[in-house]
Amino acid sequence: MTIEQIKTVAVLGAGTMGNGIAHVFARAGYHVILRDVEQRFLERGLETVAKNLDREIKKGKLPEAERAAVLARISLVTDMSAVGAADFVVEAVPEKIEIKRAVLTEADSVLGPNAIIASNTSSIAMTTLAAMTKRADRFVGMHFMNPVPMMLLVEVIRALQTSDATFSTTMELAEKLGKKPVAVNDAPGFVSNRVLMPLINEAAYCVLEGVATAEAVDTVMKTGMNHPMGPLELADFIGLDVCVDIMHVLQEGLGDPKYRACPLLKKYVAAGWLGRKTGRGFYSYS
Ligand code: NAD
Repeated sequence: MTIEQIKTVAVLGAGTMGNGIAHVFARAGYHVILRDVEQRFLERGLETVAKNLDREIKKGKLPEAERAAVLARISLVTDMSAVGAADFVVEAVPEKIEIKRAVLTEADSVLGPNAIIASNTSSIAMTTLAAMTKRADRFVGMHFMNPVPMMLLVEVIRALQTSDATFSTTMELAEKLGKKPVAVNDAPGFVSNRVLMPLINEAAYCVLEGVATAEAVDTVMKTGMNHPMGPLELADFIGLDVCVDIMHVLQEGLGDPKYRACPLLKKYVAAGWLGRKTGRGFYSYS
């Protein structure tokens, strides 16, 4: 599949990432088939797209006249057979291997022979996901960052089986979305989480060991290293449960004890202090 042949894109999952991915493809002129398991999840996803488009209009990034056309390019479907019309698919269903397997094998069976499937997984090996399909050479990783409409980076991840043609089409596609694609080989945590999560984990150890308060750790990183957010603020934004899960993936995949999750992170997760989404993590949110 060449970049010119891609006209219709399917996005599987209309959650946090899926609606953002649908947004950027529709904004770039693609017809988007957005698929979720229930109509109400699709409607919620489309509402988020509409809200985020309004934000872009307010900032002068999108002419108001284009809003309706962008939204009209997104069709909402619950039936997987409708995904068969897509030339390129991005999977953004929950980070559970059995859900991914079910969705990928079903999509694989309805798609045309040349269609490419990309996964937005944060932590499952792309090579394992590719092997679940009968198109492993047309399988690739496309790791968008949250919030998708705002963040420039897309890690384009090459599974062991990904063909050169699939890889280069995906790099070009990310550029057409106005993103900055970076080529990465399949490895635990890719580059983004391999570097970010140990930073967050170490920041949590500083708090655990009484080196400094959470506020002080974040201030050091913001004012001393020019990070726009401190690592602990960012951990609260990502979800402390997600941070612990990714540390486990790094430890298991790389086998080095330096990746063990900080006990304080684990304790907060056990308490249900998952960050912004539960109102409390390193900070309180009301
Ligand atoms: P989410 O829970 O917000 O959304 C997942 C959506 O998938 C839900 O709407 C759910 O109803 C839907 N779904 C479940 N089963 C489905 C099926 N069989 N077919 C279609 N849709 C189905 O999750 P998310 O945060 O958007 O994460 C999605 C993927 O993106 C995960 O693999 C995650 O690791 C990855 N990711 C997340 C982030 C992040 O910051 N949230 C960042 C990068 C990558």
